[in-house]
Amino acid sequence: MYDVIIIGAGIVGSSIAREISKYNLKVIVVDKDLDLASGTTKANSAIVHAGFDAKPGTFKGELNAKGNLMFEKLSKELDFPFKKNGSLVLCFNENDKKKLELLREQGEINGVPGLEILTGEDTRKMEPSISENVVAALLAPSGGIVCPYEMTIALAENAFTNGVEFKLGSQVNDIKKIHNGYSLLLNEDEVIESKVIINAAGLYSDVINNFVSDEKFNIIPRKGEYCLFDKSAGNFVKKTIFQLPTKAGKGVLVTPTVDGNLLIGPNSVNIEDKEDLDTTKEGLDYIIDKAKLSIKDIPTRQIITSFSGLRASNKNGDFIIGEVKDSPGFINAASIDSPGLTSAPAIAEVVASIVKGILKATSKENFIRERKGIVKFRELSNKERNTLIKSNPEYGRIVCRCEVITEGEIKDSIRRPLGAKTIDGVKKRTRAGMGRCQAGFCTSRVLDILSKELNIPVTKVTKFGRNSNLLIGKNKENL
Ligand SMILES: Cc1cc2nc3c(=O)[nH]c(=O)nc-3n(C[C@H](O)[C@H](O)[C@H](O)COP(=O)(O)OP(=O)(O)OC[C@H]3O[C@@H](n4cnc5c(N)ncnc54)[C@H](O)[C@@H]3O)c2cc1C
Repeated sequence: MYDVIIIGAGIVGSSIAREISKYNLKVIVVDKDLDLASGTTKANSAIVHAGFDAKPGTFKGELNAKGNLMFEKLSKELDFPFKKNGSLVLCFNENDKKKLELLREQGEINGVPGLEILTGEDTRKMEPSISENVVAALLAPSGGIVCPYEMTIALAENAFTNGVEFKLGSQVNDIKKIHNGYSLLLNEDEVIESKVIINAAGLYSDVINNFVSDEKFNIIPRKGEYCLFDKSAGNFVKKTIFQLPTKAGKGVLVTPTVDGNLLIGPNSVNIEDKEDLDTTKEGLDYIIDKAKLSIKDIPTRQIITSFSGLRASNKNGDFIIGEVKDSPGFINAASIDSPGLTSAPAIAEVVASIVKGILKATSKENFIRERKGIVKFRELSNKERNTLIKSNPEYGRIVCRCEVITEGEIKDSIRRPLGAKTIDGVKKRTRAGMGRCQAGFCTSRVLDILSKELNIPVTKVTKFGRNSNLLIGKNKENL
């Protein structure tokens, strides 16, 4: 029997796994998908919000600002990309200036440091691409950008190093209360048991909660669509540029990404299907039009792809966190919509302290705090590249030309603990396929490496698991 089962290997489940790996507990993370960070965590704005948006007194108000302040240290310990680039909320109308004031006051109550209101002129001095119509802006120096999937992988790898088990490709299909905990049905016929369950199942956290509790809730998927621009547009703005928030959320932003691209989006549309990640012409037109209000001459010809993500919202608007009253030992970290990525490290501390209290857990003396990521050939000096190639010639073979990703990096991404098993798994860990050609050149080579490394035929290699095989057989195989 496990002490703790965590359902969901997104940013929330992985943050919790790493946090409770500091205790002497037998812990396992299960996820229905074949890889880490396969749900909402893989597609969002990737902003480490400063924390002025959420109402004081809510989980969001408390945990966003707290989580933000944890990123600097975490990113150093776990070697994932994070940049404190700061953010601006633009105001286009003199009458709306008081809304900026309210945001600043709210932020200060939430504990956000350094908030300042700038004039339109000062804002344009800071960011010359900003529209002439801007009359003022709220500057938040603590706002940042991060790579959400690299962060999740880093947390999960470190949790694994500290003894947490991971069972990927295992869907929880039922949960029953037993005398000293819970029994979970995985896929069709596997049963595992645990004293404590943590529900970090994102869009499906309602289903998981509703298996055991009479305090039911309902997740409403809220879609957000994006356009991603080529790196040639990556310096268009330095800070993350928001507009004043509306009832629908934080609105359309324009931001550099931590990897040097430019990103615009999202819109905000409630939908029914939790798997519907299609982008739409109306959605993309909307975000482009909105982004044009903030920024002059947005280089739309540099858009290389579009994508969407689904927020796991509920009708009350706040995260659902805590031990469920009618189900002792069942803890929700549920309905974690935006700013869930930013809040995840703080959510993990709250959940870990509940777990510690229930199980009377003791601290591990030999907890390993640090983890090293995959080497980034593209970021090395020529001297460092030469040394690396001499020690392993696989680093001398470029597989993804757009992003300059080598065979050595791809093999490392597959071989390391919790390594990639799919094309998307390699992409999340190395960026192979994320460049201007959008995997046109490297897919076949990544597929070939995966087939050899995993010792499976090329026809069994998938894009993301399930039925996403790229090849189905040999051309003219009967000739
Ligand atoms: C458009 C958009 C923009 C956003 N922008 C930001 C932002 O800029 N900053 C920010 O802080 N936050 C942002 N967010 C929010 C942030 O992305 C989420 O809060 C966060 O990713 C949620 O992580 P999670 O781990 O709870 O969920 P997920 O990443 O969805 O993980 C849940 C996991 O549970 C697994 N699972 C589900 N059901 C089962 C089952 N039955 N059995 C086993 N496993 C199961 C899934 O496979 C999945 O891997 C944004 C979200 C969206 C959609």
